[in-house]
This record gives sequence, C-alpha cells and structure tokens, in this order.
Amino acid sequence: MIVSRTIADVRAALAERRDGRVGLVPTMGALHGGHEALLGAARRDCDTVVMSLFVNPAQFGDPADLNGYPRDEGRDLEVARAAGVDVVFAPTASELYPAGYQTWVEVTELGAILEGEHRPGHFRGVATVCLKLFTIVRPDVAYFGQKDAQQVEVLRRLIADLHLELELAVVPTVRDPDGLALSSRNARLSAEERARALALPRALATHDPETARTILEDARLDVEYVVLAPFAPPVLAAAVRAGETRLIDNIPLEEDV
Ligand code: AMP
Repeated sequence: MIVSRTIADVRAALAERRDGRVGLVPTMGALHGGHEALLGAARRDCDTVVMSLFVNPAQFGDPADLNGYPRDEGRDLEVARAAGVDVVFAPTASELYPAGYQTWVEVTELGAILEGEHRPGHFRGVATVCLKLFTIVRPDVAYFGQKDAQQVEVLRRLIADLHLELELAVVPTVRDPDGLALSSRNARLSAEERARALALPRALATHDPETARTILEDARLDVEYVVLAPFAPPVLAAAVRAGETRLIDNIPLEEDV
C-alpha cells in the first residue's frame, strides 16, 4: 500500500494504473465499519482503490469540533491495508489549501438547506474538497455513504452541474446491532448519551416526522430538525444533539438502502 502525502506523489502513484478502473473513497479517518463497507465496495468494483484521509478544515464551522475530531492515522492505515486499499492520499491542510488559497465551490440551493442551514459553509467545504480530490485522483467512481444523504445529493448536483466524468456510488448505512448508525463521533458519547441516542434510529423507523420528533424529545435529545427530505431516494432525515455530540441519521423511504 502506497501512502502519498503530496498531490505530485499521488498523481505519480496513479500514473501507471490508469488502464484499469480507479475507485476513490474519501474519508476523514477514525475509520469504522461504515468506511470499511465503502472500501469493500470499491475493492470489489475497481482495479485500483484510492482512499483519501483528510480532516478537511473547510467543512467545520466550529473550531472545537475540528480540533476534537478523532484522529488515529496509524490505526486508519492498518484498516486501509486490511481492506485492500492500494493508495492512501493523506495530505496536510497546507497541501490542499496553501497560502493565498481563495477558490470555493458552492452548490447554492441544496447546500443551504438542512445541514447547510445548521452548519453554514459546511457544504461549501465538502464540495470544494471533493472537487479537489476528484481532480487530483481522477477516479472513474467515487464512493459515499447513504448515512450522509444530503452530502450525496450535493455531490450528485456538483458532478452534473460541472460535467464531471465520474460515477457516484452510494453505499447503505452501516449500523451497530442496536441500530445506531456508525459514526466517528459516536466515540464521544457517554454511556448514558449513547443509550438516549438509540432513540434516533427508532424515531426514523416510524417514517413519520411528527411521531419521530416526539420520540426524540421524549429521549431528551435536542432536535435540530427532523424532516422528509426530497432526495433520491426521499429520506426521513434528522439531526440531534446528545450532550455536546451532534448526530445525523436518515432512513430512505422508497428504495431498500
Ligand atoms: P467521514 O469520514 O465521516 O467523512 O465519512 C466518509 C464516508 O463514509 C462518507 O461518504 C460517509 O457518508 C461514509 N459513512 C460514514 N458513516 C457511515 C455509515 N455508518 N455507513 C455507511 N457509510 C458511512
């Protein structure tokens, strides 16, 4: 497995692999079973699997959230190796955003609702870093999780609007046996918060925003939103806080994903 820190190195590592199908799995590390499902799908479909490992400062509004984001590169590289990743791209922030950086991509409408409303600038950061990764790696297909349904929707729009030659593959949400969607942020939950957080998948399973809100409030979770979102497929999506930890989840209402 090659670990590249610079754009020049990752491009050089991929230069001789352009004949086959290249798959990209963008991650921010703190890898768990959700990431492994993306890597597994990429490994099955592609000749070359590239995983990016980059905690993107541009998509965090709150410096405490960015600084407290779990990081364990040694372990992440072991997980990537075990998943059969060929190339890890793990740049520094200054490699992607050098001094003088000033170009941003904004998906204006889809990026402004729901998560975008509660985390201003979040999707500008996501869209920008993903476009950079697409340009640097030039994958045939990029893998994203249904867990972040709005992110998928924003990126689908970006790919269409900018005429990118790139397929987007969406992988179903991986959950713990108790129903909680895997997330790097779950590590921050106390046992008591985690027990209350289980109301989130239970609420979404009702497929009804009003019933879901009642279940979330009864569990003393702070509800930021719980709404039917007109994505493809439509989802019931929610964002809540359990103590200091913000959790998002969604349940597709049509397809079995
Ligand atoms: P992150 O490292 O949190 O930016 O996530 C990297 C990718 O993994 C994104 O496409 C996420 O949607 C996806 N992902 C995160 N959690 C899960 C999960 N529980 N199931 C499936 N995909 C996930």
